[in-house]
Order: sequence, then structure tokens, then C-alpha cells
Amino acid sequence: MRKYISIIVIIAAVAALCASCSGKKKVVMGTQYKCKECGEIYRDDTREIEVRREVADDVNVEVVEDYCPTCGDEVVVVEQIQYQICPVCEADRGAVTREIKIERKLADTLQREVEAPVPCPTGRCRRVSRLHEKYNWDWEFCKAVSSQEIGLGFNEDMVREAWGPPKRVEKMGNAKRWYYDAGYVTFGASGKAVEIK
Ligand SMILES: [Zn+2]
Ligand SMILES: [Zn+2]
Repeated sequence: MRKYISIIVIIAAVAALCASCSGKKKVVMGTQYKCKECGEIYRDDTREIEVRREVADDVNVEVVEDYCPTCGDEVVVVEQIQYQICPVCEADRGAVTREIKIERKLADTLQREVEAPVPCPTGRCRRVSRLHEKYNWDWEFCKAVSSQEIGLGFNEDMVREAWGPPKRVEKMGNAKRWYYDAGYVTFGASGKAVEIK
């Protein structure tokens, strides 16, 4: 009986020796996603692999901090400062703080300080902003039109607001020409001014 035990011990010792000299080691690698709000590992893309013993220390688990679906979907209130600038004369019209309700996962990328176009309520700025409200054109177009200036690429509404209705309209195939006392504007097939005289 003692002999058998000795043999088993020897076999176990040899087996252990072989395992350690086989040069392989089991390690865990991959990515874990950890919630930065509640701390839960909400996604685990790790797995166990066998690698050569000498590189085992280089293999590790990367932990990415983000929000779990529960915390990420939660609606939070964040404050945003809006610096109000007149888009016409660029006057500083003060700053306001707004509370924005937003899902937590989106809140991280929300800009906390923004510039908001708030036109002056009187004078030329008001006239320009009325055009912007009515047509939603870019501010540069609104400024030009309110100064009776037009340019290539302006559409019919812009020309009408700047110069008034044409005295006469001439069809020219897909194009048309609007005549004024001082000259004319030709609109191409796209409806935008291609010639101003
Ligand atoms: Zn969470
Ligand atoms: Zn202004």
C-alpha cells in the first residue's frame, strides 16, 4: 500500500513539474465596461486564454468607464451658460443660465458654455432679425438684404425684400429676368441670381 502511495506522489510531482515547464499560463484578457455612476461592471468582454508564460504579465484587462444603460438613460438637469451676442452688430447682450434636462450619457458631451444669437430689439438689428424670423436665412444674407444689397446666389425672396417687386419679368427658358429701373437680375434654373446688372 505504501508503495502505491509513493508511486502516486511521484506521478503527481512529475505532472506538476510538466505543467510548470510546459511554458503556458492561463490569463484573462479583454475589456470590461464599468459604470462611472453606480460602479457596476455592466458589460464584460473578457475571456480566459492560454499564453506563453513570459508574456503573461503583458496581458491585462482594460477597464472602460462609461455609464450602464440604467444610469445613462436617467434624465439629469445640467446648467448651461448662454452668452447672448447680437448676430447683427455683435453687441454683448449679457449671459443667461439655462437648465437643460438631458440623459446622463449625453450630458457629458453637452457644451456648458455656448454663444446664443440674440438680436438687439431696436433699429437695424431688429429689421435684420425680422427677416431672419420670417425666412430663416443665414444672418449674412439678412444683413445684406436689409441694406438693399444683393449678390450672386441670392434667391427671389431675397431680391424682392431688398429691391422690392420687379417692374417687369421676362421668361428665358428655364431662367428668368427681373427688370428694375436701375438694372436687372437674372435667375438661373435653380432660382438663384446668376447675373446682376
Ligand atoms: Zn450605473
Ligand atoms: Zn445689435
